[in-house]
Amino acid sequence: MSRAEEIAARLAVVRRRIAGAATSVDRDPIGVTLVVVTKFFPASDVRLLAELGVTDVGENRHQEAMAKAAECAELGLRWHFIGGLQSNKAAAVASYADVVESVDRGKLVAPLSRGARERGRPLDVLLQVSLDPPDGGRGRAGADADSLPALAAEVEGDDALRLCGLMAVAPLGEDPAVAFSRLAPIREALLRDHPRATLLSAGMSGDLEQAVRAGATHVRVGSAVLGPRPHVQ
Ligand SMILES: *Cc1c(COP(=O)(O)O)cnc(C)c1O
Repeated sequence: MSRAEEIAARLAVVRRRIAGAATSVDRDPIGVTLVVVTKFFPASDVRLLAELGVTDVGENRHQEAMAKAAECAELGLRWHFIGGLQSNKAAAVASYADVVESVDRGKLVAPLSRGARERGRPLDVLLQVSLDPPDGGRGRAGADADSLPALAAEVEGDDALRLCGLMAVAPLGEDPAVAFSRLAPIREALLRDHPRATLLSAGMSGDLEQAVRAGATHVRVGSAVLGPRPHVQ
């Protein structure tokens, strides 16, 4: 099987999974955008994905993302930055990313805004919210729900940034359906103050069904589409 055939087959399975989950809760699958996470995979795979109708790709490391976005510039894809973001890299990320999903602190607002203004177009922003249970445990990235109102106001107050919604990752070792169920009230509270912040990016290869059932508008899927990630470093 060629790489193109392999990706096409995996992609078909993932699209069926998304459609199945959406219809199981009476949602139109059109309302769920597949973001294929291409980290560690070569630009040649990104090209194949574009040929297969993928419109959105995700990357989590600045250097790799910048190089790949430049190499694939003519494909017209939407580039989502989904990784932990250092404030000294944020302006550079805004120079090629169409969406930054991992905004988790106010310190990122000024450099993202500067990068967006230098590029000459507004940048779409999602706030990454932590779903770690209140009793702690091994934390994954994200802002506490308590800090979201202030962060959202800060993003909304900046002309170069567009507050589009939320991003979340299910904590390890917890039923993702339970973790994602914590998103509903957080999202409702955000929408009360920011009615245009309707997007919800949640769900990966292993838990995309639970995320779609919990209302995700974007799922970020890597290995289920591209196979096991090559080990780099
Ligand atoms: C790598 C990554 C994904 C994709 O993970 P898979 O399990 O390969 O689907 C999704 N979201 C984030 C934030 C990631 O870093």
